[in-house]
Amino acid sequence: MEMPRILIATSNTGKLRDFAAAAKPRGIEISGMPDFCSLPAVIEDGLTFEANARKKAEAYSFHAPGEVVLADDSGLEIDVLGGAPGVHSARYAAPDLLNMEPREADANTDDEGNNARVLRELRNVPPAERTGRFVCVLAAARDGSTLATFRGTAEGIILDAPRGTNGFGYDPLFYFPPIRKTFAQLAAEEKSQYSHRGIAFLSFLKWYEDLKTREHFS
Ligand code: IMP
Repeated sequence: MEMPRILIATSNTGKLRDFAAAAKPRGIEISGMPDFCSLPAVIEDGLTFEANARKKAEAYSFHAPGEVVLADDSGLEIDVLGGAPGVHSARYAAPDLLNMEPREADANTDDEGNNARVLRELRNVPPAERTGRFVCVLAAARDGSTLATFRGTAEGIILDAPRGTNGFGYDPLFYFPPIRKTFAQLAAEEKSQYSHRGIAFLSFLKWYEDLKTREHFS
């Protein structure tokens, strides 16, 4: 049975690169949704990663009738900051750059600004207390309804200076102890073996293969 293309509802090139790297060894092709940038933006005002992922997947699936559309909501939770930046990861520097709270901002702030705010807030925090995790929730929707969600996490330490030039977002600050490197020191395929997104995507793929088998024989 041929494995169809998987449509991903994101314009984030870092996320798309991560998905492509996770899919490639399995012979699967992923693709951004056609004309994604011309579709109306979804307001990400949910209080959880899951709520935002569902909202995006459901809204964008109306633009690809009959197809399974996958949306990702993800971010960095830092324990000593009470789980911040969390669902506001993409807009964490809004107080510095836009003079408003992240939850009020309707545009993302750049990675450099977001990382600078994290570094400032963790100044003087000792290494043992700089624990945190990346979280990714994927929602798979079809024709406006969520069919299933998948969660992946990666536990790490937030460094006091960036290390590495690959990846995106907070990758240069996120040290992953099992391999003694930051995610920004990894090629995309290596990152996908350990990352929150790679783990969630693998669960999605297992579910998707089952779905296609069931639908093929029904
Ligand atoms: P979203 O587009 O609302 O899901 O925001 C995700 C934000 O979380 C990104 O803009 C990054 O700041 C951060 N983030 C999520 N996943 C990663 C990752 O794999 N590496 C680095 N930063 C990430």
